[in-house]
Amino acid sequence: MSTTTIPNPLGIHALVWAGNTSDAEVDRAVTQTAAAGYDLLEFSLHDLDSLDVPRTRALLENAGLRVACSRGLAFDADVSSDDSATVERGAELLRRSLAATSDLGGPIFTGALYSALGKYGHSLSDRGRANAVGVIRELAAEADGRGMTLGLEICNRYETNVVNTARQALRLADDIGADNVMIHLDTYHMNIEEDDFVRPVLEVGDRLGYVHIGENHRGYLGSGHLDFGPFFHALADIGYSGPITFESFSSSVVARGLSDDLAVWRDLWDDGEDLAAHAHRFMSNQLAVSAGRG
Ligand code: MN
Repeated sequence: MSTTTIPNPLGIHALVWAGNTSDAEVDRAVTQTAAAGYDLLEFSLHDLDSLDVPRTRALLENAGLRVACSRGLAFDADVSSDDSATVERGAELLRRSLAATSDLGGPIFTGALYSALGKYGHSLSDRGRANAVGVIRELAAEADGRGMTLGLEICNRYETNVVNTARQALRLADDIGADNVMIHLDTYHMNIEEDDFVRPVLEVGDRLGYVHIGENHRGYLGSGHLDFGPFFHALADIGYSGPITFESFSSSVVARGLSDDLAVWRDLWDDGEDLAAHAHRFMSNQLAVSAGRG
């Protein structure tokens, strides 16, 4: 559509391709990500134990792909809990996941690092918040030693009770107080919680480090009701040059645990290849228009 150079690495979530991290599924995710023209593959680390990290790193390097990792925690391993044993289990998951991300060659570890991924039956306590702040501050120091940054992905009320808006996430990041903790916006969650798609981007500004692009139903971009234009224009306005990753889920690709946590019950697509190619065109067009306007 345009010869405008897009500064952002374009990424895709591995769940578009594969529900697990067996060798065969990772092979397919890497091959198809590169074939669809993406620069980056994001792995969710909910299936960390079965991922062959050195093998996957070699595949990614051979394909010329960057990598990022994400995860949420669990109710029995949750750094925002009041219970110290539960907090420690969450902290251990985070440390292992950070190490795996580093070993994969990924500079960014992001997601709901501060919370279980699911609907809480109560609001966050002061003690729980303080626990999350303390654990992530320590994790940030470890990440800094590895030359990595952490992302706080802002999720909607049905997936966390810790931060649902950009303002809350900025306050959490302020309290953590580490330069390598950045904000991760996701249009799917923003649609539920934010007043609009522009002000949160402007408020986060240069503290934005990662972006997920998803439709309101997490299916094909443009097939739902989200108005992506203002969001991409706002990214251009703040000069965002970080990764922009397409995230989509369908019951066609099921990841044990994660699919249930994210309430993926519907078959929104069944051809990941077509979905990925479409999303790449959609995001590239939005970025080209945003960069070229005015
Ligand atoms: Mn997301």
